Amino acid sequence: MQLPDMHAAEPIPDTARSEIERLLQSGDLFRYTAERDAPVSLLEAEFAEMMGSRFALAVSSCSAALFLSLKALDLPDNARVLIPGFTFAAVPSAVIHAGCKPVLCEVGEDYRIDITDFSAKLDQGTEAVIISHMRGHTSDMDAIMALCAAANVPVIEDAAHSLGTTWRGQKIGTIGRVGCFSFQSYKMVNAGEGGILITDDADLVARAIIMSGAYEHNWQKHPVLHEAFAKWQNRLPLYNLRLSNMSAALIRPQLEALPRRVADGRRNHDYVAARLNATRYFDVPDPLRGEERAPDSIQFNILELDTDTVAAFARAARDAGVKVQVFGQSTDNARAFWNWQFIEDLPELPRTRAMLMRACDVRLPVRLNHAELDAVTTVLMDAMKKVTGPQKAAVA
Ligand SMILES: *Cc1c(COP(=O)(O)O)cnc(C)c1O
Repeated sequence: MQLPDMHAAEPIPDTARSEIERLLQSGDLFRYTAERDAPVSLLEAEFAEMMGSRFALAVSSCSAALFLSLKALDLPDNARVLIPGFTFAAVPSAVIHAGCKPVLCEVGEDYRIDITDFSAKLDQGTEAVIISHMRGHTSDMDAIMALCAAANVPVIEDAAHSLGTTWRGQKIGTIGRVGCFSFQSYKMVNAGEGGILITDDADLVARAIIMSGAYEHNWQKHPVLHEAFAKWQNRLPLYNLRLSNMSAALIRPQLEALPRRVADGRRNHDYVAARLNATRYFDVPDPLRGEERAPDSIQFNILELDTDTVAAFARAARDAGVKVQVFGQSTDNARAFWNWQFIEDLPELPRTRAMLMRACDVRLPVRLNHAELDAVTTVLMDAMKKVTGPQKAAVA
């Protein structure tokens, strides 16, 4: 069986072509040139409508969206921002870039925030929280929102990799004060680069819009919020993190494909998860109750075996053509907190570290068909047999 290319994206929908051709002809790539209906503005309107949010601001990346969200919250210098110990390095980086101090909390073996540790650290002078729905895994948002409401701490959702996920029927990214998404190529919607933030908070979005680079009166090309904008005119620095019309032209037709991609991704994930979970040594943690995921990758823990055998398994799978990343074992991994050495007083998180040493990550692009999923799963199971011996790998 031929293994699929696990990194190739889906083609960009054909319907993007005429708009791209128009942009090539006109050279109209800057979002604020047209009086109205620039592709970036249309994307913002469509995205906000799709998510049921009042406002959206498209920017150059999810990292930029996280940074602007923190700046728009107008936190004091060196404010403590609580983040999960399992996330992408872009998250603590955005916190530092915004002049704040990242505080890390523990994440459990189900890749979700350890609520006890979260609660303890929230009480230590936290001024804002970023919840990373890492690889689309949703932590207990009811507990998190209740704790943050009681402590009067705003929540930013890093939903970079969670577009299409829901929590008790509510769209991820609409639960906190702000939600941030990525259009980088490995996410559900691919523009190469790009990001967007959504919020219902008029003052916050006005600040974020100005700082994103809506200089002079360009803010008038956003759904007009005169009072909020007038208040901040000329009073905020410009970081110029805008999105180009070309990127918006790539993104907009993909929004229509999103429900299908989400359904395919979930079906693929659950199929592979069921096969792996029926086998000894593999454990795909269950979603929390209330969580409906939109996965384009699968994460599983290797049980019973020591970390050297986990590494040997990953090598055997790679040699057979399927890249398995063990978050804590690949050199310089950007999702292993001990590699975030740009953080002062980097803490130790024993629980998160133990999880990272045996948690495996395999891409599962939503376009894979049944036969391809079987081929990938077989490589994983054969690699396990190879490192454990056939008798030990028998179904438990
Ligand atoms: C991809 C990702 C980011 C960063 O997104 P960019 O658009 O590349 O800046 C942040 N957080 C998580 C959880 C991600 O998966």
